[in-house]
Parts: sequence; C-alpha cells; structure tokens
Amino acid sequence: MLEERRYAGVGVSPGIAIGRILPVSGGSDLLVEPEKVVLAPEQCEKEIGRFDEAVSATKLELDALKKQLGSQLSGGEGRIFDAHLMIVGDVAMRSDVVDFIRKNNTGASYAFFKVSEKYIKVLSGISDEYLRERAMDVRDVAGRILGRLEGLPANKLALLPDQRIIVAHDLTPSETAGLDRTRVLGFALEGGSRTSHTAILARSMGLPAVVGVEGEIFTGLKYDTRMILDGFSGTVIVNPSRRTEEAYRLKAQEAGRFFSDLEREKDLGSETLDGFAVQLAANIESLDDMAEVNKCGAAGVGLFRTEFLALGRGLTLPEEEQFNIYRSLLVANGNHPVVIRTLDIGGDKGLPEMTRNPEANPFLGLRGIRLSLRANQEAFRTQLRALLRAGSFGNLKIMIPMVCCVEEVLEVKSILADVEQELTEEKIDHTTRYAFGVMIETPAAALQADRIAQLVDFMSIGSNDLVQYTMSIDRGNEKVAYLYQPANPAVMELMNRTAKAAHKNNIWVGVCGQMAADPHYTALLMAMGIHELSMVTTAVGPIRRVIRNLRMHEAEALLAETLECSTAEEIWNLANQMLRKIAPEVAEMSSL
Ligand code: PEP
Ligand code: MG
Repeated sequence: MLEERRYAGVGVSPGIAIGRILPVSGGSDLLVEPEKVVLAPEQCEKEIGRFDEAVSATKLELDALKKQLGSQLSGGEGRIFDAHLMIVGDVAMRSDVVDFIRKNNTGASYAFFKVSEKYIKVLSGISDEYLRERAMDVRDVAGRILGRLEGLPANKLALLPDQRIIVAHDLTPSETAGLDRTRVLGFALEGGSRTSHTAILARSMGLPAVVGVEGEIFTGLKYDTRMILDGFSGTVIVNPSRRTEEAYRLKAQEAGRFFSDLEREKDLGSETLDGFAVQLAANIESLDDMAEVNKCGAAGVGLFRTEFLALGRGLTLPEEEQFNIYRSLLVANGNHPVVIRTLDIGGDKGLPEMTRNPEANPFLGLRGIRLSLRANQEAFRTQLRALLRAGSFGNLKIMIPMVCCVEEVLEVKSILADVEQELTEEKIDHTTRYAFGVMIETPAAALQADRIAQLVDFMSIGSNDLVQYTMSIDRGNEKVAYLYQPANPAVMELMNRTAKAAHKNNIWVGVCGQMAADPHYTALLMAMGIHELSMVTTAVGPIRRVIRNLRMHEAEALLAETLECSTAEEIWNLANQMLRKIAPEVAEMSSL
C-alpha cells in the first residue's frame, strides 16, 4: 500500500480532479531520474547508438515544431526553438554522455540525465540572466530526449492515452500549444503563479490547477501515480487512499451541483439584500473567453489583458489584426462596458526579445505603461489607433497598467489626443466617446489617487500588483508567498483611500485583481463603495451569491472593524467569519 502524501500549493483554477498523472517531459519540466541500469561493457556501444537516435528524432521534432509555430503565427515565434536546436546539436554535451556511458557502464537514459543535470546546474548558477534562461532550454530539450529514450510519446500532451493530471515544473509555450485539451484533467505545477501562462489557460479551459506546489512532491512520481488535485484549496494529494478518493468524489459532485445552481442564478441581479448594486464583470485574455462570459452572466468585461495577444508573438501586432479583435469583442458585449487594457508587458510577462537585454529587476523595470511610453511608443500608438477605431462598435473603456505618477497619465492623454487627431486627419472612422482610466496597482498611484482621479474617467484597483508592491514581494515567488497578504492593513488602507478618492471626484472605481474573485473580500469591497468587481468567469457565480446574501450595514460594520486591525490574520479571520455567516456554502467551496 503506497503512502498517501498531501502537499499545499496555490489553487489558481477551481475544481477537483482525480486520476492518474502524466509527469510531463519537455519544457521546464521536472526531469524524473531514470533507474541506474548497469550494463555489460559490450552493450555500451548499443546504448550510445540509442542515444544518437533519440537526439536525431528530437531534432526532427523540434524542426517540425519550429515550422508549425512559424506557419500558425506570423510573429516569428518559431525562433524560440533556435536555442533548443543548438543544444540538441551540442558536440560537447554528446561527448560527455558517451564518456559517462563508457566509464560507468550505465544505460543512456541515466547517463544523459546526469550530464544534463550538470549543465542545468552550471547554467542556473550563472549571474548573467540571459545565460541563466538557457538552463530552461536545456531542461526542455533534455526532457524531450529523455522521453524518447524512455519510449514515451514525443509530444505527450498532444497524444495523451487517456485522461491525465499534468504534473510539471511549469509548461512552456510549445507544450501548451500542443495540448490535447479533451484529455487533460488538471494541472499540478511546481512553479508558476496565479498569473502564469498555464494558470490562465487552465481557468479559461475550466480545468482545476494548483501551482507553487512544494518541490518534494515530485520525488518518486511514476507515470501512473494516482493523484487528487483540489483547485479550490490548492491541495495536492499523491497516492490517495480509497477513503480519501471517495470523500473527494463526493466533494466533486457537490461542487458540480453547486456550480450548476449558480449557473441558474446568472440572470439575477448582483445586489445586496438592502438594494446596493455592484457590477460584476469578467477578466479575459482572448476573444474565445466570451462563451464563458455569457455563461456566467457577467455584465461586460472589466479587464481584457491584451498582452496575451503579444505573448509568443512579439511586441508589434498589426493594427488591422488588433482592430478586428477589439471590434469583435465590443460587438459581442453590446451595451456592456469593455475595459481593454493596453499592453502590460514586463515583470513576469516578458517576451523572448526582451531576454536579449535582460533587466536585473524586471518587476521594477520597464514594465506596463513605462515600456509603452519609453521603449515601445510606436506599438503603443498602433494599439491606441486600433482601439479608437474599434470603439465606434461598442462601449469602450481604455485602461493603462502600472501607473505610478501623474506625469504618466498626462503623457498618455496627450498621446491619445494626438492619435485621435491623426485619425481625424486621415478621415478614418473612430470613437471620441470612450472612457479613459488607469489601474491603481502601485502604492504611489494609490497614495496619489485623488490627483489621478481628477484626470481620468475611472480607476481600477489591480490588487495582484498592489499587494506585490506594497509588501515588496515577487507575487510569483513561492518562498515569500506567506507575505502575499491581500488582507494586510497597509493594502486595505491603500484600497480604501483609492475608493474614497474616486467618490470625491465622482468617478467609478473597480477592482480587477484576484481579490475581486475571493468571496472573503466581497463584503469589504462593497463597503468601500467599489462600483465594479471584475474577475475570472468561474468566480462570478459564487461572488454574486455572496452579494445577494449581504446587508450593506453589516459590510460597513465589518470594514470599520477591520480598519482598526493591525494584522492580515485578524482581518482575514473577521472576513472569514462574516462569509461563513452569510454564505457558508461559498465559504465551504473555497476551502474544500
Ligand atoms: C493586478 O495586478 O491586479 C491585475 C489585475 O493585473 P495583472 O494581474 O495582469 O498584473
Ligand atoms: Mg497588474
């Protein structure tokens, strides 16, 4: 009987998956150490031949992937495989593997694992960030070659034999691109964050995902290991006992019933028992997400993260292509508002071309609006042109990310005026009736919210980054995840201050970070007078249920009490008590 092991991660996409795992080969994948097989010396040459065959097959596979990506997408992303191809052809690495096999009389898999482990270690320790990034490429290539040697299918994500939970360090674009979506049960990832590529994809596919899972989980995992993945609480259970599986099956059924009940409530108003309404909107990353937006009954889009159009594509997206996407999105939303955020590249959302000139601290570097204004103004103007042109087809709100001072807002307004004039002169149809707003996601912007509010039509609090920058922690770094405290009094104070500044200046204020999707904070945000909560579509139902069970005076009393608290824990406990009182079924679901 195998021992049941439980691990804590961060649940980034709700749902429960029960099944067998697939440790993914390739990508920044975990490389599972193969068994050390000792051979008779005369068998060594055969193993070297097997290794060479695996390398040639991998080279062909990468060439094909490069061509495939190059033809599907026009931004030259096939080039991301150039580094991989260089590694496959590396003569020094081959000679190390051959020496290892001959010296130790071991099988090719073990020898190659040991050699690539050494390369990854050396590259990971280099201070130059560009070279350090190459460790990831070596992992990707090593995973692929190892998969070949072990006789696993080349692109396992495209050829899943049956439904599997994908277990990996993280996934690369090539893997996610090749995913057989009908056969994936969920994702358990060692790396990543709520905003990582895979987390976002998992949410839009409606699959449970847990990221930031402790590394130790990966020891001893085999192809067929059974696992339970709880995307609500972020729990991962390896080798679950029959009883645990039974309990989780029941929970999965309950969750299924709960979500279908919520779906039936999708047309009910999002207002409190005493009649205070708040707008519920959706966060989306692509036009494909509109089906989910309609299904959950969100009133429009509160955040369209346009950088996902650019990830894997490069910074310069053609104006016409952008125009078509924005127009379709606006048309699909009718009169409902659509907040389209200009490119928020940088930080954890880097592009391949940026790794050529890496910054020491990308989260504090040329990110978001800074990149648009300082290094990438042409692309920014192109995006604004596409937005203003599409704006004639719906209710457009343009929003800029990462603002930290009034000057940035003024500069963008002046560019917007310029672009409008340019379109008028060129006699190109465009809107003049759009709203212009900013994200409040740096402490500086929150402290200046009153001044900023005088210049814009709306503000939307990006709590993900506001927490990161207020607490001075990298939001994707699992080592400091304990300090990722949305309920920290400093964060609460900045949010409350922002809301007050919006009220004073008669503009609307929203929240579009993850706090808007967490039912524990709904009462507090309502009491602050937030007008719009924008979130991942799966959260709209639960949040609507909480609002409909809430009385504003109770929420206000809760806010007053929390503003007196000194720690995140005190605030969270009070918020949790309130949630358990008014919507215990939602509280249960978020801590299943
Ligand atoms: C945020 O920071 O809260 C936000 C919504 O933006 P993103 O998560 O895309 O950085
Ligand atoms: Mg942000």
